[in-house]
Amino acid sequence: MAPLKEAMSLSGRIFRSVLAFALVGIVLFSVVITGIFYISLEHDASAKLLAQAHRAAAVLDEEPVDARPAVLAEQFDGAVRYTLIDANGAVLFDSAAPADGASWENHADRPEVRAALESGEGATSRHSTTLNADTLYAAAPLSNGSVVRLAETRASLIAFFATDLMMPVALALLAAVVLVLVLSRLLTRHLMRPLDNLDVSSPLDNAAYAEMQPLLERIDSQQRTLRAQNEELARAESLRRDFSANVSHEMKTPLQVISGYAELMANNMVPAEEVPRFAGLIYEESQAMRALINDVLVLSRLDESSGDIAQTGPVNLAAVADHVVHRLAAPAHEAGVVVSLETVPVWVEGSELLLEQMIYNLVENAVRYNHEGGAVQVQVTEEMAEGAALMGEEGTAQGRSSARGPEAGAALGDGDAAVSATAAAHPPREAVVRVSDTGAGIPLEAQEKIFERFYRLDKSRSKETGGTGLGLAIVKHAALYHGGEVSLESEEGQGTTFTVRLPLAPEEPLSS
Ligand code: ATP
Ligand code: MG
Repeated sequence: MAPLKEAMSLSGRIFRSVLAFALVGIVLFSVVITGIFYISLEHDASAKLLAQAHRAAAVLDEEPVDARPAVLAEQFDGAVRYTLIDANGAVLFDSAAPADGASWENHADRPEVRAALESGEGATSRHSTTLNADTLYAAAPLSNGSVVRLAETRASLIAFFATDLMMPVALALLAAVVLVLVLSRLLTRHLMRPLDNLDVSSPLDNAAYAEMQPLLERIDSQQRTLRAQNEELARAESLRRDFSANVSHEMKTPLQVISGYAELMANNMVPAEEVPRFAGLIYEESQAMRALINDVLVLSRLDESSGDIAQTGPVNLAAVADHVVHRLAAPAHEAGVVVSLETVPVWVEGSELLLEQMIYNLVENAVRYNHEGGAVQVQVTEEMAEGAALMGEEGTAQGRSSARGPEAGAALGDGDAAVSATAAAHPPREAVVRVSDTGAGIPLEAQEKIFERFYRLDKSRSKETGGTGLGLAIVKHAALYHGGEVSLESEEGQGTTFTVRLPLAPEEPLSS
């Protein structure tokens, strides 16, 4: 057995996908919420600082210029940086000393100062990367044209996120992992339940997922194919068993005769003048056995249908039929049956040996199951293919009719009546071998059975004439092997006509 492919786990897959979605969702959600939260916070802080700046401006307006720094110091006390700027932007006072003791540069161009001077108030926020902090500025004008500015430094968005939100987000993520783990287990079990309950022996009765319907249909069709194959195998096996039983049985009879006579002769129990007769009987029985073994061999090779039964090539059926009729001349003469032959050269592709056996069996039967004074007619011809005969085309049929015997013309008569002159110029044609006799005929109910192995219509008669019931089985299989078929027409008391139809060879050889 091939090693199983490493299967992936459904729950693992669900877990990974759901976890990935959950993580991305949680991170996106926290970033967006943090952003919104931070912006609104900054907005609030800025509004508060601006209000403070206005209040400070109002208070300072009441105070003399000299006292103002002290008032501011008292009011804000280190929590907020404050700056007094005159109308020209010069810094009058600042709660934070400039770095290296240098004086403050002019503040007139600071946005919040400019806004306060122009429109009565100004607020901005500036980010310092070095401090990783944002500074909020709010400025309000005094009545004398100078400006009070307040500044407040606060953690930047990233610092805010890192210090305040890291922990809750990490906890949420952890909770998500655990939740997804449990959820994926449950989901897997839920998804798998219809699959676990699948009844594979009757796939189409399952109400599983619609997506599985094609798969179930395939399983079903494969199961049906397998069942049919099994039945076919069982049938073939039983046929084979019958066949072997029949073969052994058929062999036993001649062997018994042979061994009986040989024993008598070995024990000197046969008078000298009778020895030739006994030897003749032994010879006849062994000939019958040889014929039987030959037939069995042909049939078993046809069964194997390996395609290389015998050498194949173009075969002229007329020559084969002629040879067969010559071979059967003596038995026909003995039976008082006249065999007539009527042929045109017809070429088929196949095994000459098999085709000869096929025609031989048909003619042999026609002679054997005939009566004294009877007749057998063997005909080899080329005709319009059966299917095409109904819709075929008259012109070509007539053009070729000179090459055919009178029988062929008569046989086509009915079909030709229905044909139209507008049909194809080259209707398909086929080779036909027809063997007719004036024998007793074959009853309708037996007409199919006679092609079965070892089937004999009249056991005693067939036996007495040496038949074993394999001849027509060989005929049928040989016809099938050559892509053709065999049919028969029979009238009890009148005679029988066997017709074999075979595809023509693609091209007639030049030597014809
Ligand atoms: P084998 O051909 O193996 O020597 P067989 O002739 O008995 O033996 P088949 O050729 O298979 O076997 O024929 C089967 C049976 O069909 C015959 O026994 C015979 O009863 C009947 N049969 C065959 N051909 C004719 C025919 N032309 N006329 C009447 N009966 C026939
Ligand atoms: Mg026969």
